[in-house]
Amino acid sequence: MRFTVLTLFPELISSYVSQGVIGRAVDAGLVDVQAVDIRDFTTDRYRTVDDVPFGGGAGMVLKPEPVAAAIESVGEVDHRVLLTPSGRPFSQADAVQWSHKKSVVLVCGRYEGIDDRIRQDFVDDAVSIGDYVLSGGELGALVVLDATLRLVPGVLGNAESARQESYSEGLLEHPHFTRPSEWRGRAVPDVLLSGHHARIDEWRRQKSLERTWALRRDLISRVSLTSEDKRFLAALEAGQGDEEN
Ligand code: SAH
Repeated sequence: MRFTVLTLFPELISSYVSQGVIGRAVDAGLVDVQAVDIRDFTTDRYRTVDDVPFGGGAGMVLKPEPVAAAIESVGEVDHRVLLTPSGRPFSQADAVQWSHKKSVVLVCGRYEGIDDRIRQDFVDDAVSIGDYVLSGGELGALVVLDATLRLVPGVLGNAESARQESYSEGLLEHPHFTRPSEWRGRAVPDVLLSGHHARIDEWRRQKSLERTWALRRDLISRVSLTSEDKRFLAALEAGQGDEEN
């Protein structure tokens, strides 16, 4: 799986992908991340990438020519994606889908964004990473490539840890605890020390339901629930649940 990130700040990308889980996967040749400088595709002596907006108004707009030339320089790819706050929300389902692709191009804007003719004809998709405005697409590209690459087989040491997480099954994940079992007067839930795997699984499922119910009730309708889950949720509805924060 290869990501090619088109950006005015390639070091932001290369620095992140040299570290941690993604860094190890890149070193091992499991995945590839290329950062391409859009400025290298300018043709004037000042290497100009931006210009004033037609129609007036504040700020500058990224010119279409260098962005299109950068996209075309990448050649054959499976999917070309623009990062923009006015895109559809990026989700775990996209990460899963893209992790099976051979190559994805991510296009990062700066300033007021990129001339819209790029969105119209030079990309296949436009995604946002959330309802806020960043100063550039690089953090968005890193979010997208991190969420995607950790799903590529072999990237995470333990394949289980990707499967059971928040969102993989549509619910938020249960809480985690590690040693010491008692710390600053706070004890870890007894059931986790019991060694009783069925009870631990049941506790985790309930915590996951409880947390999702408290914080992201919108997710619950998309999950397939067992009759036991439904009984537990009915009890929460009846006002017997813990408060989450
Ligand atoms: N004027 C634009 C915002 C430009 S922000 C508007 O109101 O829509 C500059 C660049 O940052 C964008 O081109 C985009 O690539 C990136 N960006 C900002 N917020 C983002 C978000 N929530 N998701 C993805 N990319 C974002």
